[in-house]
Amino acid sequence: MFKKILIANRGEIACRVIWACRELGIKTVAVHSEADRDSLHVRFADEAICIGPAPSPKSYLNIPQIISAAEITNVDAIHPGYGFLSENAHFAEVCRECNITFIGPSPNAIRMMGDKSEAKRTMKAAGVPVTPGSDGLIEYEEEAVKEAERIGYPVLIKATAGGGGRGMRIANNRQELTSAYQTARAEAEVAFKNSGVYIEKYIANPRHIEVQVLGDNYGNVIHMGERECSVQRRHQKLIEESPSPAVSYELRQEMGRVAVEACKRIGYSNAGTIEFLMDEDGSFYFMEMNTRIQVEHPVTELVTVSDLVAAQIRIAAGEKLTESQDELMFVGHAIECRINAEDPVTFTPSPGRITSLNLPTGPGVRVDTAIYNGYFVPPHYDSLIAKVIVHSRTRERAIARMRRALEAMVVEGIKTTIPMHLKILNDPDFQSGNISTRFMERFMS
Ligand code: ADP
Ligand code: ADP
Ligand code: MG
Repeated sequence: MFKKILIANRGEIACRVIWACRELGIKTVAVHSEADRDSLHVRFADEAICIGPAPSPKSYLNIPQIISAAEITNVDAIHPGYGFLSENAHFAEVCRECNITFIGPSPNAIRMMGDKSEAKRTMKAAGVPVTPGSDGLIEYEEEAVKEAERIGYPVLIKATAGGGGRGMRIANNRQELTSAYQTARAEAEVAFKNSGVYIEKYIANPRHIEVQVLGDNYGNVIHMGERECSVQRRHQKLIEESPSPAVSYELRQEMGRVAVEACKRIGYSNAGTIEFLMDEDGSFYFMEMNTRIQVEHPVTELVTVSDLVAAQIRIAAGEKLTESQDELMFVGHAIECRINAEDPVTFTPSPGRITSLNLPTGPGVRVDTAIYNGYFVPPHYDSLIAKVIVHSRTRERAIARMRRALEAMVVEGIKTTIPMHLKILNDPDFQSGNISTRFMERFMS
Protein backbone atom coordinates (compact mmCIF):
# COMPACT_ATOMS: atom_id res chain seq x y z
CA MET A 1 0.00 0.00 0.00
CA PHE A 2 1.06 3.61 -0.57
CA LYS A 3 2.79 5.44 2.28
CA LYS A 4 1.98 8.99 1.18
CA ILE A 5 -0.49 10.52 -1.29
CA LEU A 6 -0.65 14.04 -2.70
CA ILE A 7 -4.14 15.40 -3.34
CA ALA A 8 -4.16 17.60 -6.45
CA ASN A 9 -7.43 19.34 -5.64
CA ARG A 10 -9.22 21.59 -3.15
CA GLY A 11 -12.51 21.95 -1.30
CA GLU A 12 -14.74 19.12 -0.17
CA ILE A 13 -13.23 16.47 -2.47
CA ALA A 14 -9.71 17.15 -1.15
CA CYS A 15 -11.05 16.61 2.38
CA ARG A 16 -12.93 13.50 1.24
CA VAL A 17 -9.68 11.96 -0.08
CA ILE A 18 -7.84 12.87 3.13
CA TRP A 19 -10.49 11.02 5.21
CA ALA A 20 -10.04 7.90 3.08
CA CYS A 21 -6.25 8.08 3.44
CA ARG A 22 -6.54 8.46 7.22
CA GLU A 23 -8.62 5.30 7.45
CA LEU A 24 -6.10 3.44 5.29
CA GLY A 25 -3.16 4.69 7.37
CA ILE A 26 -1.68 6.72 4.50
CA LYS A 27 0.02 10.10 5.02
CA THR A 28 -1.32 13.06 2.99
CA VAL A 29 0.07 16.12 1.23
CA ALA A 30 -2.25 19.01 0.40
CA VAL A 31 -1.45 21.49 -2.35
CA HIS A 32 -3.14 24.88 -2.34
CA SER A 33 -3.28 28.24 -4.05
CA GLU A 34 -2.56 31.52 -2.27
CA ALA A 35 -6.33 32.02 -1.95
CA ASP A 36 -6.73 28.69 -0.14
CA ARG A 37 -4.19 29.11 2.68
CA ASP A 38 -6.93 28.91 5.32
CA SER A 39 -8.71 25.93 3.76
CA LEU A 40 -9.61 22.82 5.70
CA HIS A 41 -7.79 20.46 3.33
CA VAL A 42 -4.59 22.36 4.15
CA ARG A 43 -5.27 22.06 7.87
CA PHE A 44 -6.16 18.36 7.86
CA ALA A 45 -3.34 17.06 5.63
CA ASP A 46 -0.06 15.96 7.19
CA GLU A 47 1.87 18.37 4.95
CA ALA A 48 0.85 21.30 2.76
CA ILE A 49 2.55 23.13 -0.10
CA CYS A 50 1.53 26.37 -1.80
CA ILE A 51 1.62 25.86 -5.57
CA GLY A 52 0.81 29.33 -6.87
CA PRO A 53 -1.61 32.25 -7.09
CA ALA A 54 -5.41 32.00 -6.98
CA PRO A 55 -6.28 31.50 -10.68
CA SER A 56 -6.39 27.73 -11.30
CA PRO A 57 -4.18 27.74 -14.44
CA LYS A 58 -1.41 29.04 -12.16
CA SER A 59 -2.05 26.59 -9.30
CA TYR A 60 -4.45 23.62 -9.44
CA LEU A 61 -3.84 23.16 -13.19
CA ASN A 62 -0.11 23.87 -12.99
CA ILE A 63 1.44 20.46 -13.73
CA PRO A 64 5.13 21.37 -13.15
CA GLN A 65 4.29 22.92 -9.77
CA ILE A 66 2.25 19.92 -8.66
CA ILE A 67 4.90 17.42 -9.76
CA SER A 68 7.58 19.46 -7.94
CA ALA A 69 5.45 19.38 -4.79
CA ALA A 70 5.09 15.60 -5.18
CA GLU A 71 8.85 15.15 -5.58
CA ILE A 72 9.79 17.40 -2.67
CA THR A 73 7.42 15.54 -0.36
CA ASN A 74 8.35 12.15 -1.80
CA VAL A 75 4.80 10.81 -2.33
CA ASP A 76 3.98 7.45 -3.96
CA ALA A 77 0.76 8.55 -5.61
CA ILE A 78 -1.45 11.49 -6.61
CA HIS A 79 -5.23 11.58 -6.27
CA PRO A 80 -6.68 14.13 -8.73
CA GLY A 81 -10.25 14.38 -7.30
CA TYR A 82 -12.78 15.66 -9.90
CA GLY A 83 -12.48 18.63 -12.27
CA PHE A 84 -9.01 20.24 -12.61
CA LEU A 85 -6.47 17.61 -13.83
CA SER A 86 -8.61 14.53 -13.15
CA GLU A 87 -9.33 13.85 -16.82
CA ASN A 88 -6.05 15.11 -18.22
CA ALA A 89 -4.30 12.17 -19.93
CA HIS A 90 -1.08 14.15 -20.26
CA PHE A 91 -0.96 14.69 -16.49
CA ALA A 92 -1.51 10.97 -15.89
CA GLU A 93 1.41 10.26 -18.26
CA VAL A 94 3.70 12.77 -16.55
CA CYS A 95 2.93 11.10 -13.21
CA ARG A 96 3.83 7.72 -14.69
CA GLU A 97 7.12 9.07 -16.11
CA CYS A 98 7.99 10.44 -12.67
CA ASN A 99 7.24 7.08 -11.03
CA ILE A 100 4.24 8.46 -9.19
CA THR A 101 1.01 6.44 -9.37
CA PHE A 102 -1.91 8.41 -10.80
CA ILE A 103 -5.00 7.25 -8.89
CA GLY A 104 -7.34 6.69 -11.80
CA PRO A 105 -7.52 4.78 -15.08
CA SER A 106 -4.66 4.53 -17.59
CA PRO A 107 -3.71 7.60 -19.68
CA ASN A 108 -4.96 5.64 -22.67
CA ALA A 109 -8.43 5.10 -21.18
CA ILE A 110 -8.66 8.76 -20.17
CA ARG A 111 -7.74 9.84 -23.68
CA MET A 112 -10.13 7.38 -25.30
CA MET A 113 -13.10 8.59 -23.27
CA GLY A 114 -12.03 12.25 -23.09
CA ASP A 115 -12.93 12.91 -26.69
CA LYS A 116 -16.69 12.51 -26.45
CA SER A 117 -17.28 11.91 -30.13
CA GLU A 118 -14.57 9.22 -30.26
CA ALA A 119 -15.87 7.71 -27.01
CA LYS A 120 -19.29 7.23 -28.65
CA ARG A 121 -17.65 5.44 -31.56
CA THR A 122 -15.70 3.17 -29.24
CA MET A 123 -18.79 2.35 -27.19
CA LYS A 124 -20.89 1.71 -30.27
CA ALA A 125 -18.26 -0.75 -31.47
CA ALA A 126 -18.41 -2.41 -28.04
CA GLY A 127 -22.14 -3.02 -28.52
CA VAL A 128 -23.43 -0.17 -26.36
CA PRO A 129 -26.51 1.72 -27.61
CA VAL A 130 -25.47 5.36 -28.22
CA THR A 131 -27.48 8.59 -28.56
CA PRO A 132 -28.47 8.87 -32.23
CA GLY A 133 -26.25 11.37 -34.02
CA SER A 134 -23.31 12.04 -36.28
CA ASP A 135 -20.60 9.45 -36.64
CA GLY A 136 -17.67 11.63 -35.65
CA LEU A 137 -16.92 15.33 -35.87
CA ILE A 138 -18.73 17.80 -38.11
CA GLU A 139 -16.18 19.89 -40.02
CA TYR A 140 -18.40 22.08 -42.23
CA GLU A 141 -21.72 23.82 -41.92
CA GLU A 142 -23.15 21.97 -44.96
CA GLU A 143 -22.31 18.71 -43.22
CA ALA A 144 -24.11 19.93 -40.10
CA VAL A 145 -27.22 20.69 -42.18
CA LYS A 146 -27.13 17.29 -43.85
CA GLU A 147 -26.67 15.43 -40.56
CA ALA A 148 -29.39 17.45 -38.79
CA GLU A 149 -31.84 16.62 -41.58
CA ARG A 150 -30.92 12.96 -41.43
CA ILE A 151 -31.29 12.81 -37.63
CA GLY A 152 -34.33 15.11 -37.53
CA TYR A 153 -34.78 18.35 -35.55
CA PRO A 154 -34.36 19.33 -32.77
CA VAL A 155 -30.66 18.55 -32.60
CA LEU A 156 -27.91 19.31 -30.12
CA ILE A 157 -24.45 20.52 -31.20
CA LYS A 158 -21.94 19.32 -28.62
CA ALA A 159 -18.27 20.12 -28.04
CA THR A 160 -16.24 16.92 -28.25
CA ALA A 161 -13.96 18.25 -25.47
CA GLY A 162 -16.89 19.57 -23.42
CA GLY A 163 -17.57 19.04 -19.75
CA GLY A 164 -19.23 20.59 -16.72
CA GLY A 165 -22.42 21.17 -18.75
CA ARG A 166 -20.69 23.60 -21.08
CA GLY A 167 -20.33 23.64 -24.86
CA MET A 168 -23.85 22.61 -25.98
CA ARG A 169 -26.29 24.38 -28.32
CA ILE A 170 -29.81 23.35 -29.38
CA ALA A 171 -31.11 23.93 -32.92
CA ASN A 172 -34.86 23.49 -33.45
CA ASN A 173 -34.78 24.07 -37.22
CA ARG A 174 -32.61 24.88 -40.22
CA GLN A 175 -32.65 28.64 -39.38
CA GLU A 176 -31.26 28.04 -35.88
CA LEU A 177 -28.68 25.55 -37.06
CA THR A 178 -26.25 28.03 -38.65
CA SER A 179 -25.85 30.17 -35.56
CA ALA A 180 -25.93 27.16 -33.19
CA TYR A 181 -23.15 25.50 -35.17
CA GLN A 182 -21.01 28.64 -35.36
CA THR A 183 -21.43 29.65 -31.69
CA ALA A 184 -20.88 26.08 -30.43
CA ARG A 185 -17.59 25.91 -32.35
CA ALA A 186 -16.43 29.34 -31.22
CA GLU A 187 -17.35 28.65 -27.59
CA ALA A 188 -15.66 25.27 -27.65
CA GLU A 189 -12.47 26.86 -28.99
CA VAL A 190 -12.44 29.45 -26.19
CA ALA A 191 -13.49 27.11 -23.35
CA PHE A 192 -11.65 23.91 -24.30
CA LYS A 193 -9.09 25.09 -26.92
CA ASN A 194 -10.70 22.53 -29.24
CA SER A 195 -13.39 23.61 -31.70
CA GLY A 196 -14.43 20.05 -32.58
CA VAL A 197 -18.21 19.52 -32.40
CA TYR A 198 -20.60 16.66 -33.13
CA ILE A 199 -24.37 16.43 -33.47
CA GLU A 200 -26.91 14.44 -31.48
CA LYS A 201 -30.64 14.06 -31.64
CA TYR A 202 -32.04 16.30 -28.91
CA ILE A 203 -34.02 13.81 -26.85
CA ALA A 204 -37.31 15.36 -25.75
CA ASN A 205 -37.87 14.56 -22.07
CA PRO A 206 -35.00 12.32 -21.07
CA ARG A 207 -33.75 11.23 -17.72
CA HIS A 208 -30.04 11.32 -16.98
CA ILE A 209 -29.22 7.91 -15.53
CA GLU A 210 -25.62 6.90 -14.92
CA VAL A 211 -23.96 3.67 -13.84
CA GLN A 212 -21.04 3.57 -11.41
CA VAL A 213 -18.36 1.06 -12.34
CA LEU A 214 -15.26 -0.19 -10.59
CA GLY A 215 -12.54 -2.19 -12.32
CA ASP A 216 -9.23 -3.52 -11.03
CA ASN A 217 -5.94 -4.05 -12.88
CA TYR A 218 -6.73 -7.74 -13.45
CA GLY A 219 -9.75 -7.44 -15.71
CA ASN A 220 -12.43 -7.68 -13.01
CA VAL A 221 -15.23 -5.11 -13.37
CA ILE A 222 -18.40 -4.63 -11.33
CA HIS A 223 -21.19 -2.06 -11.48
CA MET A 224 -22.58 -0.43 -8.36
CA GLY A 225 -26.05 0.41 -9.61
CA GLU A 226 -27.35 3.62 -11.06
CA ARG A 227 -27.76 7.24 -10.07
CA GLU A 228 -30.67 9.38 -11.19
CA CYS A 229 -29.32 12.85 -12.02
CA SER A 230 -32.21 14.41 -13.93
CA VAL A 231 -32.64 17.44 -11.69
CA GLN A 232 -30.30 19.79 -13.53
CA ARG A 233 -29.93 23.42 -14.38
CA ARG A 234 -28.06 24.35 -17.56
CA HIS A 235 -26.99 20.71 -17.97
CA GLN A 236 -25.45 20.71 -14.49
CA LYS A 237 -26.66 18.38 -11.78
CA LEU A 238 -28.34 19.80 -8.68
CA ILE A 239 -29.79 16.71 -6.98
CA GLU A 240 -28.79 13.06 -7.43
CA GLU A 241 -30.25 9.90 -5.99
CA SER A 242 -29.85 6.15 -5.99
CA PRO A 243 -31.72 4.06 -6.96
CA SER A 244 -33.59 5.85 -9.75
CA PRO A 245 -37.38 5.78 -9.30
CA ALA A 246 -37.57 4.92 -13.03
CA VAL A 247 -35.24 1.91 -13.04
CA SER A 248 -36.64 -1.56 -12.35
CA TYR A 249 -34.58 -4.49 -11.14
CA GLU A 250 -34.46 -5.90 -14.69
CA LEU A 251 -33.43 -2.57 -16.22
CA ARG A 252 -30.68 -2.18 -13.60
CA GLN A 253 -29.33 -5.62 -14.49
CA GLU A 254 -29.40 -4.72 -18.17
CA MET A 255 -27.76 -1.28 -17.84
CA GLY A 256 -25.19 -2.74 -15.45
CA ARG A 257 -24.40 -5.60 -17.80
CA VAL A 258 -23.89 -3.21 -20.74
CA ALA A 259 -21.67 -0.93 -18.63
CA VAL A 260 -19.52 -3.81 -17.32
CA GLU A 261 -19.14 -5.36 -20.77
CA ALA A 262 -18.06 -2.03 -22.25
CA CYS A 263 -15.44 -1.51 -19.52
CA LYS A 264 -14.06 -4.99 -20.02
CA ARG A 265 -13.80 -4.38 -23.76
CA ILE A 266 -11.76 -1.21 -23.32
CA GLY A 267 -9.69 -2.64 -20.43
CA TYR A 268 -10.93 -0.02 -18.00
CA SER A 269 -9.59 0.07 -14.45
CA ASN A 270 -10.39 2.16 -11.36
CA ALA A 271 -13.64 4.07 -10.74
CA GLY A 272 -15.66 5.39 -13.66
CA THR A 273 -19.16 6.43 -14.60
CA ILE A 274 -21.07 5.66 -17.74
CA GLU A 275 -23.70 8.32 -18.38
CA PHE A 276 -26.87 7.39 -20.23
CA LEU A 277 -29.90 9.28 -21.44
CA MET A 278 -33.11 7.34 -20.94
CA ASP A 279 -36.18 8.20 -22.94
CA GLU A 280 -39.81 7.88 -21.94
CA ASP A 281 -40.13 4.27 -23.09
CA GLY A 282 -37.13 3.11 -21.04
CA SER A 283 -34.62 2.88 -23.92
CA PHE A 284 -31.20 4.07 -22.84
CA TYR A 285 -28.34 5.55 -24.83
CA PHE A 286 -24.67 6.10 -23.97
CA MET A 287 -23.84 9.79 -23.69
CA GLU A 288 -20.33 9.91 -22.23
CA MET A 289 -18.00 8.30 -19.72
CA ASN A 290 -16.41 10.17 -16.81
CA THR A 291 -13.04 8.61 -16.00
CA ARG A 292 -12.79 9.85 -12.41
CA ILE A 293 -14.58 9.99 -9.08
CA GLN A 294 -17.78 12.01 -9.43
CA VAL A 295 -19.30 14.72 -7.29
CA GLU A 296 -22.32 12.50 -6.57
CA HIS A 297 -20.39 9.34 -5.59
CA PRO A 298 -21.68 9.44 -1.96
CA VAL A 299 -25.22 8.32 -2.89
CA THR A 300 -23.75 5.11 -4.30
CA GLU A 301 -21.54 4.69 -1.23
CA LEU A 302 -24.57 4.86 1.06
CA VAL A 303 -26.76 2.37 -0.81
CA THR A 304 -23.89 -0.09 -1.34
CA VAL A 305 -22.23 0.48 2.08
CA SER A 306 -18.89 1.10 0.42
CA ASP A 307 -16.05 3.62 0.19
CA LEU A 308 -15.38 4.45 -3.44
CA VAL A 309 -12.35 6.65 -2.74
CA ALA A 310 -10.72 3.92 -0.66
CA ALA A 311 -11.52 1.50 -3.49
CA GLN A 312 -9.79 3.84 -5.98
CA ILE A 313 -6.68 3.93 -3.81
CA ARG A 314 -6.62 0.16 -3.25
CA ILE A 315 -7.06 -0.57 -6.95
CA ALA A 316 -4.30 1.89 -7.88
CA ALA A 317 -2.03 0.17 -5.35
CA GLY A 318 -2.58 -3.10 -7.20
CA GLU A 319 -5.20 -4.79 -5.03
CA LYS A 320 -7.96 -6.90 -6.51
CA LEU A 321 -11.64 -6.01 -6.18
CA THR A 322 -12.79 -7.38 -2.84
CA GLU A 323 -16.42 -7.98 -3.83
CA SER A 324 -17.93 -9.80 -6.75
CA GLN A 325 -21.08 -8.55 -8.46
CA ASP A 326 -23.21 -11.12 -6.62
CA GLU A 327 -21.83 -10.17 -3.20
CA LEU A 328 -22.67 -6.51 -3.66
CA MET A 329 -25.88 -5.45 -1.91
CA PHE A 330 -28.12 -2.43 -2.32
CA VAL A 331 -29.78 -1.01 0.78
CA GLY A 332 -32.44 1.70 0.92
CA HIS A 333 -32.46 5.05 -0.86
CA ALA A 334 -29.95 7.92 -0.87
CA ILE A 335 -30.30 11.53 -2.05
CA GLU A 336 -27.68 14.26 -2.44
CA CYS A 337 -28.31 18.01 -2.66
CA ARG A 338 -25.45 20.13 -4.00
CA ILE A 339 -25.32 23.34 -1.95
CA ASN A 340 -23.77 26.17 -3.94
CA ALA A 341 -22.73 29.66 -2.83
CA GLU A 342 -25.17 31.25 -5.27
CA ASP A 343 -28.32 33.33 -5.24
CA PRO A 344 -31.12 30.69 -5.09
CA VAL A 345 -33.18 32.51 -7.74
CA THR A 346 -30.71 34.07 -10.17
CA PHE A 347 -27.88 31.56 -9.53
CA THR A 348 -25.25 34.33 -9.57
CA PRO A 349 -22.22 33.34 -7.47
CA SER A 350 -22.15 34.64 -3.91
CA PRO A 351 -18.61 34.42 -2.55
CA GLY A 352 -17.73 35.98 0.83
CA ARG A 353 -17.24 35.31 4.52
CA ILE A 354 -19.41 32.82 6.39
CA THR A 355 -20.51 34.58 9.58
CA SER A 356 -22.62 31.82 11.12
CA LEU A 357 -22.82 28.12 10.37
CA ASN A 358 -24.82 25.12 11.48
CA LEU A 359 -24.41 21.85 9.63
CA PRO A 360 -27.16 19.22 9.88
CA THR A 361 -26.57 15.97 11.77
CA GLY A 362 -28.72 13.14 13.07
CA PRO A 363 -29.68 9.70 11.75
CA GLY A 364 -28.83 9.03 8.12
CA VAL A 365 -27.32 12.45 7.38
CA ARG A 366 -23.86 12.96 5.87
CA VAL A 367 -22.31 16.31 4.96
CA ASP A 368 -19.26 16.46 2.69
CA THR A 369 -17.85 19.96 2.93
CA ALA A 370 -14.76 22.08 3.52
CA ILE A 371 -16.47 25.15 4.95
CA TYR A 372 -16.39 26.31 8.61
CA ASN A 373 -17.62 29.28 10.57
CA GLY A 374 -15.50 32.30 9.59
CA TYR A 375 -14.35 30.70 6.31
CA PHE A 376 -14.07 33.01 3.29
CA VAL A 377 -15.55 31.44 0.14
CA PRO A 378 -13.13 32.59 -2.57
CA PRO A 379 -14.57 33.86 -5.87
CA HIS A 380 -12.04 32.00 -8.04
CA TYR A 381 -13.46 28.46 -8.07
CA ASP A 382 -16.59 26.34 -8.47
CA SER A 383 -19.39 27.54 -6.18
CA LEU A 384 -20.06 24.10 -4.61
CA ILE A 385 -19.63 24.57 -0.83
CA ALA A 386 -21.28 21.45 0.60
CA LYS A 387 -23.02 18.23 -0.31
CA VAL A 388 -25.80 17.11 1.98
CA ILE A 389 -26.49 13.40 1.56
CA VAL A 390 -29.22 11.41 3.30
CA HIS A 391 -29.96 7.72 3.49
CA SER A 392 -33.17 5.99 4.54
CA ARG A 393 -35.22 2.89 3.79
CA THR A 394 -37.47 4.38 1.15
CA ARG A 395 -37.39 7.33 -1.23
CA GLU A 396 -40.28 8.97 0.60
CA ARG A 397 -38.46 8.79 3.92
CA ALA A 398 -35.21 9.99 2.34
CA ILE A 399 -37.04 13.08 1.03
CA ALA A 400 -38.48 13.78 4.50
CA ARG A 401 -35.02 13.33 5.99
CA MET A 402 -33.43 15.72 3.48
CA ARG A 403 -36.08 18.33 4.18
CA ARG A 404 -35.44 18.01 7.92
CA ALA A 405 -31.66 18.28 7.35
CA LEU A 406 -31.81 21.35 5.10
CA GLU A 407 -34.27 23.11 7.41
CA ALA A 408 -31.67 22.77 10.17
CA MET A 409 -28.77 23.98 8.02
CA VAL A 410 -27.71 27.59 8.59
CA VAL A 411 -25.16 29.39 6.42
CA GLU A 412 -25.05 33.15 7.04
CA GLY A 413 -22.97 35.84 5.34
CA ILE A 414 -23.36 34.42 1.82
CA LYS A 415 -26.32 33.30 -0.24
CA THR A 416 -26.82 29.59 -0.87
CA THR A 417 -29.10 27.38 -2.95
CA ILE A 418 -30.71 25.78 0.15
CA PRO A 419 -34.08 27.58 -0.40
CA MET A 420 -34.17 26.26 -3.97
CA HIS A 421 -33.62 22.70 -2.76
CA LEU A 422 -36.43 23.02 -0.20
CA LYS A 423 -38.74 24.18 -2.98
CA ILE A 424 -37.84 21.16 -5.12
CA LEU A 425 -38.28 18.75 -2.19
CA ASN A 426 -41.82 20.10 -1.69
CA ASP A 427 -42.75 19.73 -5.36
CA PRO A 428 -45.40 17.02 -6.05
CA ASP A 429 -43.71 15.92 -9.31
CA PHE A 430 -40.34 15.54 -7.58
CA GLN A 431 -42.01 13.65 -4.74
CA SER A 432 -43.67 11.20 -7.12
CA GLY A 433 -40.43 10.71 -9.07
CA ASN A 434 -41.94 12.31 -12.17
CA ILE A 435 -38.75 14.07 -13.33
CA SER A 436 -36.76 14.64 -16.49
CA THR A 437 -33.80 16.86 -17.36
CA ARG A 438 -36.38 19.61 -18.10
CA PHE A 439 -37.80 19.45 -14.57
CA MET A 440 -36.09 22.69 -13.48
CA GLU A 441 -37.41 24.78 -16.37
CA ARG A 442 -40.55 25.76 -14.52
CA PHE A 443 -38.56 26.83 -11.44
CA MET A 444 -36.69 29.37 -13.50
CA SER A 445 -38.12 32.75 -14.42
P1 ADP B 1 -20.09 15.32 -11.98
O1 ADP B 1 -20.74 16.42 -11.25
O2 ADP B 1 -21.06 14.37 -12.54
O3 ADP B 1 -18.99 14.68 -11.22
P2 ADP B 1 -19.39 17.44 -13.72
O4 ADP B 1 -19.47 17.36 -15.20
O5 ADP B 1 -20.39 18.31 -13.03
O6 ADP B 1 -19.43 15.95 -13.25
O7 ADP B 1 -17.92 17.87 -13.33
C1 ADP B 1 -17.43 17.92 -12.00
C2 ADP B 1 -16.50 19.09 -11.84
O8 ADP B 1 -15.54 19.14 -12.86
C3 ADP B 1 -17.20 20.40 -11.85
O9 ADP B 1 -16.54 21.23 -10.95
C4 ADP B 1 -17.04 20.86 -13.28
O10 ADP B 1 -17.11 22.26 -13.35
C5 ADP B 1 -15.66 20.33 -13.61
N1 ADP B 1 -15.44 19.94 -15.02
C6 ADP B 1 -15.73 18.77 -15.60
N2 ADP B 1 -15.31 18.72 -16.88
C7 ADP B 1 -14.74 19.91 -17.13
C8 ADP B 1 -14.11 20.48 -18.28
N3 ADP B 1 -13.96 19.84 -19.43
N4 ADP B 1 -13.65 21.73 -18.18
C9 ADP B 1 -13.78 22.40 -17.01
N5 ADP B 1 -14.34 21.91 -15.91
C10 ADP B 1 -14.83 20.69 -15.95
P1 ADP C 1 -20.97 17.11 -19.90
O1 ADP C 1 -19.70 16.56 -20.46
O2 ADP C 1 -20.98 18.58 -19.83
O3 ADP C 1 -21.38 16.43 -18.64
P2 ADP C 1 -23.01 15.51 -21.22
O4 ADP C 1 -22.80 14.99 -22.60
O5 ADP C 1 -22.85 14.56 -20.11
O6 ADP C 1 -22.06 16.77 -21.01
O7 ADP C 1 -24.44 16.18 -21.13
C1 ADP C 1 -24.82 16.96 -20.02
C2 ADP C 1 -26.34 17.06 -19.93
O8 ADP C 1 -26.88 17.64 -21.13
C3 ADP C 1 -27.04 15.72 -19.80
O9 ADP C 1 -27.10 15.29 -18.47
C4 ADP C 1 -28.42 16.04 -20.38
O10 ADP C 1 -29.23 16.69 -19.44
C5 ADP C 1 -28.10 17.03 -21.49
N1 ADP C 1 -27.97 16.34 -22.79
C6 ADP C 1 -26.82 15.90 -23.35
N2 ADP C 1 -27.04 15.31 -24.55
C7 ADP C 1 -28.38 15.37 -24.77
C8 ADP C 1 -29.26 14.94 -25.83
N3 ADP C 1 -28.78 14.34 -26.92
N4 ADP C 1 -30.58 15.17 -25.70
C9 ADP C 1 -31.08 15.81 -24.60
N5 ADP C 1 -30.31 16.24 -23.57
C10 ADP C 1 -28.98 16.03 -23.64
MG1 MG D 1 -21.83 14.47 -18.34
